[in-house]
Amino acid sequence: MLKHCPVCEHPSTSKILRIPEAPVHCNRLYGSRKAALAAPIGEIDLVYCENCGHIFNRAFDEALVAYDPEYENSLFHSARFREYARDIAGELIERHNLHNKDILEIGCGGGDFLKLICDLGENRGRGFDPAYDAEQGIAAKNLHFVRGYFDETYLPMPIDFIVCRHVLEHLAAPAELLALVRAISAPLFFEVPNALYTLRDLGIWDVIYEHPSYFTPASLQHIFKRGEFSVTRLNEVYGKQFLALEAHPERKTSVILAKYKREKLIQESELRALIATFKQRRAEKVALWGQKIHHFAESAQKVVLWGAGSKGATFLNSFAKNLPIEFIVDINPRKQGLFIPRTGQEIIPPDALKKYQPDGIILLNSLYESEIRSQVEAIGVRAKIYIA
Ligand SMILES: [Zn+2]
Repeated sequence: MLKHCPVCEHPSTSKILRIPEAPVHCNRLYGSRKAALAAPIGEIDLVYCENCGHIFNRAFDEALVAYDPEYENSLFHSARFREYARDIAGELIERHNLHNKDILEIGCGGGDFLKLICDLGENRGRGFDPAYDAEQGIAAKNLHFVRGYFDETYLPMPIDFIVCRHVLEHLAAPAELLALVRAISAPLFFEVPNALYTLRDLGIWDVIYEHPSYFTPASLQHIFKRGEFSVTRLNEVYGKQFLALEAHPERKTSVILAKYKREKLIQESELRALIATFKQRRAEKVALWGQKIHHFAESAQKVVLWGAGSKGATFLNSFAKNLPIEFIVDINPRKQGLFIPRTGQEIIPPDALKKYQPDGIILLNSLYESEIRSQVEAIGVRAKIYIA
C-alpha cells in the first residue's frame, strides 16, 4: 500500500477511480487457458496527489509483481515503433554528442534500444534488466547485459549517459532510483507513459496494475527536481502516448535553470478538470465497447483483437468473463500460442486469420493502424477495422 505520494511524499489525495480486480501482470502470458484463468489479481485504487498532481495506485502491493524472463513487453516487433526508437536514438546521439561513449540502460528489456544507440553512435552499452533473457536477447561485442537490477555496486563503472525507458512507472519508490542515478553524475533520458494521454485522449487501456505511478508532465518534472536534476527537455512523444524527459544533475547555479525555462504542457486547472470527469468518461467508453461486442455476437459477426500487450489484456479484462471474443492476434512469435491472464483468449499469429476469417478486427492503438491494415491485406483477410 502506498500511504504517501511516491513523487512528493504528500499524504493528501483525491479519489479518481477503483478497479477491484485487475490482472497483476498484463505482460505475462500463460501456457494454458487453465493457468491463464487462475492468474493473480490485484486492486487498483487510483488517486491524485493534491500537492504535485501525480496519479498513483494507492492499493499497489509491490510483493505481488515480479519481473523475470517470462515477462515480455517489447514493442520492437512493430515497424512504427522501430522508426520512433531510431529517431529518438539519433536525436540523443546528436544532442548529447554520444560517440565512443559508455551508455547505461536501466530496464533494457531485450536490449534493442541499447543496441540501436550504441550501433548508431559507435558507443559501448551496458544494460540491466531482471527480465533480460540471454537466449532471446542481443549479443554484440560492444554490449554487455546483466540479468538483474542496477544497484550501487555498479556505480564505479564508466557511465557517460543514462537511458531508462518505461521503468519509473513500475516502481513503488521511484525516487530511490533517481537517488541512485543522481550518484552517477551523468546526463540522462527517461521515458514513461503519459498520464495526460490517458486522461485527455481516454487511453483507458493503459491503467494497469503493473504501473503504480501515472506521471503527468508536472509530476515527472517534480520528481526530477526533488532529486536535484535540471530538466532540459520534457515532451509528449509517440502520438502523445509517452513523456520523454532529458535532464542532468543540477549544478548549484541559477544560470542553468534559467536557460532551460520551458512552457508547461498543461495547466493545473485543466488537469483537475480532466481528472474530475475521467471516471465517468472511462465507464462510458467501456460500456460502449461492451455493447458493440455483444452486438457483433448477436449478428453472428466474428471479431478478434489485434495486439496482446497490456492494452489488449486490459481491454479484455474490462468486461465480464464471457465476452464473445475467442482470439487475439500478435506478431510477436514469443506470445503466440499463449493465453491472456484472467480472460483466457488464445494468442494467434496473423496468418491464422486466413482460416478464421473474422468480420472485424479491433485495434487498441491508432498508431499501429496503417501497419496492421497492410498486414491484414497481405494475408488476404477482408475484415472491418475498429479502433477502441
Ligand atoms: Zn505528490
